[in-house]
Amino acid sequence: MTGKVIKKADFKRLIEAIRKDNKKVYGPVKNEDSVSLSGLTSTSEIVFDYTMSALPGKRLFFPQTELMFTFQDNQNAPEQRTNSEKPADPEQKELSENGFIVFGLRPCDVLALTYLDKVFANEECIDPYYAARRYNSLIISFACPTMTDTCFCTSINGSPVGSEGSDIMVYDLGESLFFSPVSEAGNDFIEGYSHIFNEPDESEIKKKEDFIAFAMRDAISNTEKIGDSDGSGIEAVNTIQSQVWGSIAERCLGCGVCTYVCPTCHCFAIRDEKMAQKINRIRINDSCMFPGFTSEVSGHNPRNNKSSRMRQRIMHKFDYTVKNFNEIFCVGCGRCIQNCPANVDIREIILTINKLSVFPIIVSS
Ligand code: SF4
Ligand code: SF4
Repeated sequence: MTGKVIKKADFKRLIEAIRKDNKKVYGPVKNEDSVSLSGLTSTSEIVFDYTMSALPGKRLFFPQTELMFTFQDNQNAPEQRTNSEKPADPEQKELSENGFIVFGLRPCDVLALTYLDKVFANEECIDPYYAARRYNSLIISFACPTMTDTCFCTSINGSPVGSEGSDIMVYDLGESLFFSPVSEAGNDFIEGYSHIFNEPDESEIKKKEDFIAFAMRDAISNTEKIGDSDGSGIEAVNTIQSQVWGSIAERCLGCGVCTYVCPTCHCFAIRDEKMAQKINRIRINDSCMFPGFTSEVSGHNPRNNKSSRMRQRIMHKFDYTVKNFNEIFCVGCGRCIQNCPANVDIREIILTINKLSVFPIIVSS
């Protein structure tokens, strides 16, 4: 199957048809000056002309805050728990049980999900909360027509039209959208709503090819920004004593924003929240950029300064995950660059490290 098209004017019909089938649908919606992946209602105005959502798609699978389960706050009563294999949070429970469809993830965010799968749903360890949402969802990605000043996916194994992890790739042709199935589930989805889709005509097939050619040309011109490097010095800066971390971390304010907006960061903390008669066990996103992240009960903190925390963030993404999962845990989305209040630019960090060339961490396409 090569794909089908739908007029943008008919897109609401598709959303309505999915909702009638009792599936929750998410898509890019404009909120004041940013775009978020929000639950779509019959009146939602999905946007197509955006670069990327403010927060990555990971928040649908690994939410910022999640109620895992509750238990009784009564030492004399037998412990009563909700089913800990399923989150107690009603929205998360619904997503896990009924499944959902996400429109509008960008290819870098979907590639990041395939990396998170290696952490939360690997052969040795499965996180039931993450896995239930991940494997009950259908991902319909929107290919990127152009890259922003801070995008660098093609310098780091990605592509603005990359389909890895997606079920369907959508190409915006102006008046219409070209749906190209990637997985069997994506193919079944298009077949299931075939009454809303049309066969593409020759001009639409040509427009899709032009879209891909233009996106790749734009991406290749972007790649040169950091892709010229012939190697990196990740081993040279591996030690905590390396002075490079101090200079890289100098401007950092330790706000943690770079990790919260990152589609691949996945550190979390678990907290108990005492209510009147029960205790909620909550999982929340955490950040290695906070001093408290590694504070021990004794008061000792093995990462007690900014440079050691910056080192952890960079080494985790560019060295530890390569050793553990054979992947660089950065997809070049550029959100950390856009959102850092101190103008810390991960591309500059990579280039600084690369200048100490020992072996490559950047893979140019
Ligand atoms: S966003 Fe910038 S200032 Fe904040 S922790 Fe990250 S690097 Fe530091
Ligand atoms: S480190 Fe920065 S550029 Fe890389 S994936 Fe995370 S937010 Fe995006």
